[in-house]
Parts: sequence; C-alpha cells; structure tokens
Amino acid sequence: MQLVYDVGLWIDGAAVPAQTRKTFSVLDPGRGEVLGSAARGTAADIDRAVEAAERGFRSPAWHDLDPYERCRLLWAWARKVESEAEDLARLLSLENGKPLRHARDEVLTTIRNLEYYAGWADKSDGRTLRVPDHALDYLIREPLGVVGHIIPWNYPLDIFARGVAPCLAMGNTVVVKPAEETPLSTFLLARLASEVGLPAGVVNVVSGLGLEAGAALCSHAGIQGLAFCGSVETGREVLLAAARQVTPVVSLELGGKSPCLIFPDADIDRAAESSALGICYNTGQSCGALSRLLVQRDLVERIADQIRATLARVRLGHGLDDPDMGPLVSEAQLKKVTDYVEIGCSEGARLACGGRHPEAGQLSQGFFIEPALFLDARPGMRIVEEEIFGPVISLLAFDTEEEAIHLANASKYGLSAEIWTRDLSRAHRVAAQLDVSHVTINGGGGFGIEAPFGGVKQSGFGREGGWESIAQYSRVKNVWVNL
Ligand code: NAD
Repeated sequence: MQLVYDVGLWIDGAAVPAQTRKTFSVLDPGRGEVLGSAARGTAADIDRAVEAAERGFRSPAWHDLDPYERCRLLWAWARKVESEAEDLARLLSLENGKPLRHARDEVLTTIRNLEYYAGWADKSDGRTLRVPDHALDYLIREPLGVVGHIIPWNYPLDIFARGVAPCLAMGNTVVVKPAEETPLSTFLLARLASEVGLPAGVVNVVSGLGLEAGAALCSHAGIQGLAFCGSVETGREVLLAAARQVTPVVSLELGGKSPCLIFPDADIDRAAESSALGICYNTGQSCGALSRLLVQRDLVERIADQIRATLARVRLGHGLDDPDMGPLVSEAQLKKVTDYVEIGCSEGARLACGGRHPEAGQLSQGFFIEPALFLDARPGMRIVEEEIFGPVISLLAFDTEEEAIHLANASKYGLSAEIWTRDLSRAHRVAAQLDVSHVTINGGGGFGIEAPFGGVKQSGFGREGGWESIAQYSRVKNVWVNL
C-alpha cells in the first residue's frame, strides 16, 4: 500500500476536502518536521458528516442488516487491518512518535477490538419481565443512532477501535474527530472500513481543530451519543456543549495521576523495573500511567537506585528506529513536561535523574525528554497532584498500609492503580479500598479489551471495554403487550 501523508475528510464512504479547502500540517515529532497534512474540517463539514451518518443509520443496507452480517463486516475489517498492519504501524509511529514495536502492538489491539466486538454483534439479546399472565413485557436493546467520538493522540487507533467497534456492533453509525496530531492513521483505518464493504455513511472521519470541528460535533443536534477521551478541561467543554442539546455523553475518559503502591513484601526488583519501564511506555503519555510511586519508607533508597539505573539505560530515538522510548507528541507537550520538571525542582522535590531535552545531535530536533525521577515528593506539590503526561515519576514514602491507601486516594483523579505485594490478603484488601476503576496486582500487563476501563472522580465516567461498551452504546426499549 502507498502510504498517504496528505489526507482529506472521510465522509459517506469517500475522501473529500474540507468545504473551506483549508488544511493543517501534521508533524513528525521525532524530527520536528512537517510529515503531511490533513483537511481542516469545520462546522459545515460536521453537518455533512452527521447527515451522511444519519442516512447511513436509516439505510436498509445497515439498519436492516442481519446482525450476523454486521459481525462478518467487522471481522472483514479486522482482516483488512491485519493485511495492512505494517503500513498502519509505520504511519502511527511517524505521526505519534511511538517506537515501531509499540505501534505494532497498538495495531494488534485495534484488530482485537474489531474481532471482539464482531462477536457481540449477534449476541446482545433482551429479556422478558415477570408480569401478570394476561400480558407480555419485554425489553429490546436498540442502537442510539449517530454517535460522535472525539479521540486523543496518545493511542489514536486503539481508542478509535474500542469506541467505534461496539458502536457498529450495535448498529449505530459514527462521526469521528481525530486529534490534530494524529489524523493520518485514523483516515487510513476509516478508508479500510469502506474497502471491505461497510456501507457509505457508517464510518465518517472529520479531522480538524478541537475548537472548530470538535466543538461543532459536541453541539450538533443530530448526535445521539458522545464519547470523549482527553483532558479534564476539554472534557468539561464537551459536557457543557452536550448539555445544550441534551445529548447523552456516554463515556468521558479524562486523565489520571495513577498510584503504584510498593509494599515491603513485594518482589522489589521486579516492582522497581516495572515502574521505571512503565513510565517510559508511550513516553508517559498514557491516561493510566503510574506516575505516583508510593514506596514503604525503608525501601526508598533501594528502589530509587534501581529506577535510576533502569532509566539511565533507556535509549531515546526516532519511532521508526524502534528505540526504548520515542519523543513526546508535540512541542506543546515538551514545554508542558519541561515546565513541570522546573516546577518540581522549585517545589523542593529532588530530581534524581532525567528531565532534560537533549541539546545537541539529532535528538535535539525532535520533542525528546529524558525520563525523570523525583524523590522527596510530598502531597500538595503540583508534580504530585497534576497530570504531567510525560515520563516523570514522583516518589512518595509511606510508613503504614493505611497511609499508603490514604496517599493513593488523595487525588482528584481515579483511573488506575497498581499494587506490589506477595501477601494475598493485603492485595485484595488494598484493591478494594482504592478509588479507581482498574487495579493491577504485581504488574504483568494491564487491561485487556474484554475488561471495562474508565474513570471515577475527575477521571471521568463510562466504561470502555467488554460488555459495558455494548451497554453504553445502546439503549433499552420496553414493550408491553396486553394479551
Ligand atoms: P485535549 O483534551 O484538548 O484534546 C483531546 C481531543 O479533544 C482532541 O481531538 C482535540 O482536538 C479535541 N478538542 C479540543 N478542544 C475541544 C473542544 N472545545 N470541543 C471538542 N473537542 C475538543 O488534549 P490535548 O490538548 O491534546 O492535551 C492536553 C492534555 O490533555 C495532555 O497534556 C494530557 O494531560 C491530557 N490528555 C489526556 C488523554 C487521556 O488519555 N486521558 C489524552 C490526551 C491528552
């Protein structure tokens, strides 16, 4: 396949320019250079896309499709993505900066999402209610209609697939607004859907700026459900815009400041290595990144030494060279993260390593930063409370299990947490007390696509993954029959 670096909008099964004919540049964050361009959609293009999605929703080719055929279409899309996997991964690595093998992993997760929800397309049944004998009362599950998805740049293909696949499995149609930084791979994914026969109007993509295309999508009267993943500030704007139309926001996944709790009875070496490598994954730009390390006081020096040693070995490089860690996604992210490093130092935390942008050589051109570890971090510091979204760990000490739980929960966010202990009772006891939606015990992976994932507190609401996605992208209708 010929990789395309200049993309249009994908509306009604075809590539079209924005009505204004304007475009915006897409950068290669590993080189700080222009990589390509995308159409700069505005409210007029959102109108076109929503109209196409409404037509698609009502069309017999989609609305009346046997659920089994819907299943086969999603499965065919998965096979097509598989056949183009290497090109998709390269494009993703180029526009996002992530190491090629991690981009390949993301394409695999995208395929798995399509396959998993293909399986749900013909399995979402209703139920009957217990009513007097002269009546029949049943519940059927129906699609919402046109669903709007606003996607961030950190896992653009995965987040697209985990939201769009369950929508389609339930018979909805979608209008997707990718992030400004990563529209290219999303466009390609939508094009592949049409190539395997998804009817026109079922999957539409309108690239553009958040304040133009994104805001227009949230306030469009034709949208019957909205899913957003991104920052708390933008999430608030999405809610406000949706409120004006009384549009249900089914899923709002915002950031996190997730804690990792290491108890003295843990496998300390594995815990330290996992924490160090974990914060480097996607250059720390993961909503569930374990950026607050809570360590029993006697272990602090040992764990800090191990993390420092592991971080020192992390090889930075351009995504296509498949390094240990790629650049941050943009100059704005680089500024944000380097500002936080300065803030941490001025707050009195001890920068044990990293936190610098390489000043010379090839790396100086890209948006790179060395992974950083702060010691002597304390509650109340901004580096402890705010989401940095970069490879920066703030390490806090605790004395007792109760204090560890208190520190873990002392955050406006609540997304993920990790616990390291060999004590089974403690593992379950602590997991039960953490105000998050997702707990990992002793590392070794994270969440599969079968598991619901989402926020509590300011990390948002709704759950993406598993049956919960099918439930949130559908609604229940009750039918009473007087026999
Ligand atoms: P953002 O929340 O502003 O952008 C996310 C998406 O929302 C993008 O597609 C963007 O175009 C769109 N958007 C922006 N303004 C909008 C509006 N008014 N209406 C509708 N859509 C709008 O995030 P960002 O500016 O790319 O990054 C800023 C910070 O957000 C990051 O540093 C990080 O802390 C956080 N973030 C979190 C996640 C996550 O996975 N939870 C992902 C990306 C960014």
